[in-house]
Amino acid sequence: MRAQLFHTISNAAGAVGQATLNLLMPPQCPVTGEAVAAPGKLGPAGWAALHFIERPFCGRCGVPFAADYGESVECPACIAEPPVFDRARAAISYNEAARKVVSGLKFSDRMEYAGMLGGWMARAGAGFVTRESLLMPVPLHWRRLMARRYNQSALLARSVGEVSGAQVLLRGLRRTRPTPPQKEIPSVEARRRNVAGAFAVDEKYRSAIKGAHIVLIDDVLTSGATASACARALKQAGASQVDVLVLARVVKGGAGAI
Ligand SMILES: [Zn+2]
Repeated sequence: MRAQLFHTISNAAGAVGQATLNLLMPPQCPVTGEAVAAPGKLGPAGWAALHFIERPFCGRCGVPFAADYGESVECPACIAEPPVFDRARAAISYNEAARKVVSGLKFSDRMEYAGMLGGWMARAGAGFVTRESLLMPVPLHWRRLMARRYNQSALLARSVGEVSGAQVLLRGLRRTRPTPPQKEIPSVEARRRNVAGAFAVDEKYRSAIKGAHIVLIDDVLTSGATASACARALKQAGASQVDVLVLARVVKGGAGAI
């Protein structure tokens, strides 16, 4: 009885706290800055500025195609040099609006977005995420984790897990050395060198990874070099399949390509 009363009071206090917070800092759309009804929501103009990726796309890396060539058709880049991972899917194209959503999640402590973004990602990965899949975030180096306080990919992994019912393994991969951010490195080849051998499977989780279907979770897919470096470590540890699910992917020639 007392516990229930406490629960009721703390819920009420939480609601009052949120209402006070909303008065002090009215919730804003992360894309446009316009006022929205609740934290973690987008305004109509914010929705319109995002580009959700739909079929047709490359059966392997998920890059959108202008015309439908069939489900299993791969893009020229994947045919020329197949990625280490098996498939990659993204919820949205990386454009200016997506950049604002990602940087809100990454740098502004806007953790309330994670629930909504995880829902978008679960929809994009519905073709391969099952209850037997193991969702694993791309790890930050511990020094960057200390500076930022949380790993945005881990937040997304947890959220995709809640929506899809898939299991989440947060600490199965670790960075063996710090690497400069990929966005500061111009060429694909240099990006590949930057992250080569930078990831390792944590020995404690090797048996969980062996034979598993891994879905690697990240916020943005650009050249795929980071995802490939992680996939290589996971496959060497015996993962049966490694797919990649991200919030946003850069589309060559598209708005916001970097
Ligand atoms: Zn492709």
